[in-house]
Amino acid sequence: MFDYNIFIQGFPGKSSTHGGLGWSTVTLLSQNDQNIIIDVGSFGVRPLLLSRLRDKGLTPNDISMVLLTHTHWDHCVNWTMFPNAAIVVGRVDMNWALNEPPGGWHVPELYVKELNCSSQIRLVDNLEEVIPGIVAHQTKGHTPGHMAYSVDNGDYDLLFSGDAAKNRAELLSCNVDMSLNLLESQSSIDYLWSLWKKKTGSILVPGHDIPMKLVNGKPMYLYKREADLQYWFSDTLEDYTTITLEQELEFSKNGK
Ligand SMILES: [Zn+2]
Repeated sequence: MFDYNIFIQGFPGKSSTHGGLGWSTVTLLSQNDQNIIIDVGSFGVRPLLLSRLRDKGLTPNDISMVLLTHTHWDHCVNWTMFPNAAIVVGRVDMNWALNEPPGGWHVPELYVKELNCSSQIRLVDNLEEVIPGIVAHQTKGHTPGHMAYSVDNGDYDLLFSGDAAKNRAELLSCNVDMSLNLLESQSSIDYLWSLWKKKTGSILVPGHDIPMKLVNGKPMYLYKREADLQYWFSDTLEDYTTITLEQELEFSKNGK
């Protein structure tokens, strides 16, 4: 059995004035003394990641494996924080990222190059069992070699969809934002649904949203959303405003 802890909640949004927020999900998966992180977020979350690890009595050195769903900046750049981890990434995605011209909006070209030269890299193929119980599923569209990961937890599965299905809206509408290939993305979402429905009680963790469980066939959030913006429109640093980016949710605890 794997325990999972959402270290950083993904957020399903972007800014019309400042582009992608890149607020992606970072999850710790633990079994016995094995600690795995699924997607590692972008630069801004580094202090938070260290603090979440500390709360668990861990340091970055204790992470044995990082599973990357894809090579976008908001999911992969922090691989450099984990010197003892195998960095697992889809072979097709890595080849694609390495051949992207520099200066694009989505691939952190230098971090990808460095990873390619690192002894930490472990390339995986579609349906490869990464370690016993964890399988990589190629779910292309968002990127050409995107991987989702399924984790067999006995009675139920944990399914990390990454950005193949970034949020609940994409799962329900089978329509996607920011895809390189809409038809491939839609067929990946169909595939994710087939994995999700395999076992009652399975939990899907999207790349930019809160984990969900199916209740009567409908995805229900398992946690309360935690997201805010703090800003200074005043004359002093002491006087700041916080906007909580929450809404009325169909809130479900333990699927009830
Ligand atoms: Zn992405």
